[in-house]
Amino acid sequence: MKKLFFFILFFILVSFSKSFAVEVDSSLWQTKKSQHFIIYYQEAPVAFVDELIYKSENYYNSIVDELGYRRLDFWSWDNRAKIYLYKNAEDFQTNTQRSAWTGAIVSVRNRVMKTFVGQDHFFDSLLPHEMTHIIFREFIGVNTPLPLWIDEGVASSQEKSNLSARMQMAKNLVAKNQYIKLDNLSKTNNFEKDTVAPDIFYSEAASLIVFLIHQEGKDRFLEFSRSLRDGINWRSALLKVYNFTTLEEMEQEWKDFMLGYK
Ligand SMILES: [Zn+2]
Repeated sequence: MKKLFFFILFFILVSFSKSFAVEVDSSLWQTKKSQHFIIYYQEAPVAFVDELIYKSENYYNSIVDELGYRRLDFWSWDNRAKIYLYKNAEDFQTNTQRSAWTGAIVSVRNRVMKTFVGQDHFFDSLLPHEMTHIIFREFIGVNTPLPLWIDEGVASSQEKSNLSARMQMAKNLVAKNQYIKLDNLSKTNNFEKDTVAPDIFYSEAASLIVFLIHQEGKDRFLEFSRSLRDGINWRSALLKVYNFTTLEEMEQEWKDFMLGYK
């Protein structure tokens, strides 16, 4: 679990960088392609690559549906996302110069994910999480300024195995009045500096997005995303689209939702 949080944290450090290296010697890589993805791999079990392409397409469909982006097919064929699959952790670390705890790196700007074979929770958490980062930013724009909780909340809301644990944690935090106030959560962009526990941060962020999507519906989330894309400040967009008078009012409604969450 700890490892998972670390790679998620790391994502944000690299995702908006223009210097994200994507140059690889294509003669060394085999490829497998589908409508929305090109998988590059060297030594990976055929079954793993097949499962990756199958699940990537399934997640693409479920994520765009869940976020309300169903009618927009914005990155197929010529604009397909690329997933580079290294054969193991060591190979990944050598080629990306990332630390041992990084499970994947993503460039939303280049629509590229780099990862490796043999990780726990790869298919049910890491893959949908990172893919959601790409899809969400593809829609709202790479340079749109947002607090970290919105990016990570949207991505975490699409995880499979982790989500119920995150929701239960958020519910407990609310019940015990130990949650991070929304105003403070919105100021958190660096865990070490802000001394916020990552598991609390991710749980709360995910639950806020689940609240917005499930309480108010996909169309409303689409409208919120459009407002962000059109350059409206995230706070104004939240209040206007969801009819909250203040962020405190949103926080109260989220707390009520969480206390009743099963
Ligand atoms: Zn993330």
